[in-house]
Amino acid sequence: MTLVVDGMRRSHGAFELGPIDLAVDEEVLSVLGPSGCGKTTLLSTIAGTVTPDAGTISLGGLDLTGRPPEKRGTVLVFQDGALFPHMTARENVAYAASSEKRVEELADALEIDAVLDQRADTLSGGERQRVALARSLAADPDALLLDEPLANLDAPIKRRLRDELRPLLASLDVPVIYVTHDQREATAIGDRLAVIADGELLQLDTPDEVFAHPATPFVASFTGSTNLFRGAVVETGTGRALDWNGRRLDAAIGGATVGETVQFCIRPEYVTLAADETRNSVEGAITRRVFEGDGYLLDVVPDGGDEAVRLALSPPAYERAGLDERDRVRLALPADAIHVIGGVEECSAIGPARR
Ligand code: ATP
Repeated sequence: MTLVVDGMRRSHGAFELGPIDLAVDEEVLSVLGPSGCGKTTLLSTIAGTVTPDAGTISLGGLDLTGRPPEKRGTVLVFQDGALFPHMTARENVAYAASSEKRVEELADALEIDAVLDQRADTLSGGERQRVALARSLAADPDALLLDEPLANLDAPIKRRLRDELRPLLASLDVPVIYVTHDQREATAIGDRLAVIADGELLQLDTPDEVFAHPATPFVASFTGSTNLFRGAVVETGTGRALDWNGRRLDAAIGGATVGETVQFCIRPEYVTLAADETRNSVEGAITRRVFEGDGYLLDVVPDGGDEAVRLALSPPAYERAGLDERDRVRLALPADAIHVIGGVEECSAIGPARR
């Protein structure tokens, strides 16, 4: 069964969502975007609680556009789970389930057996969210719409549930749309990833492809490719390369022409420390170091430049290198990790080269 959103638009005052075109098969589509970009509006139009201004929504070939929410076969789960507070977890799940056996199956899958007879308003956040998910699955939806279901949970529970959700959602064999503003959640859970900003669908592809080849500067920065620069395409005699503040960088240039100014990016985890001077290497001083728990981020300003290059190192790699703030280092920017996004003019409609 395929969920199809065709030319859908919806405005709220000055905010405009769409036109959105999506086809979600029996897969998990993560929708990633910043707060206020229209993620909830998208889910609500599919669920039928918000009426689109234009376009159609269909599921398995059936036009849902004018149908009331309860006749769509879709289930929408919000971040607070919206359980009946005075009912037990079991009663909440049973409310939607076809049999007691189904309640037991879901309790088992979501590991809520131990709290089944506890009142919903006494459950912890993680337990509440598991019960809410069990209840939504109990309804055997034809399409499942999840709106930031893990947003209110603390990091360890969120990570655990995230890892457990992926196989559970994939096993449903129905279209699932999973909305989040957390890139790790989006990539861990989705078979494909849609990135939305300011009501516009900017890119829809596999998570790997979106991360390796972001379509716009916004997608690059929102998915963590924080090294976003401008350079000119130059002819080298053997092909085309980038001129970046007077430095020559080998890269796959794609469709850009010689003389064109383009934006390009490289993910911090693909920048490496280089022992020797090589092609695509730059030297400079570390101006900033941030420890993120599972790794270090180092900002290095190349000599004669003012744009810092960010490098991500695992703790062992950082310790091996014996680095400190203000140390001088040589970085390699591998040609195959540099992604040319597009001409500056076509990119400038979406955002500045660097924030
Ligand atoms: P968040 O991640 O913060 O939940 P979101 O991406 O889900 O945000 P939406 O809730 O879809 O974004 O909101 C998109 C825009 O539409 C926002 O500017 C919001 O203020 C506006 N909006 C949403 N619903 C309404 C409404 N019922 N009336 C007026 N404006 C609305």
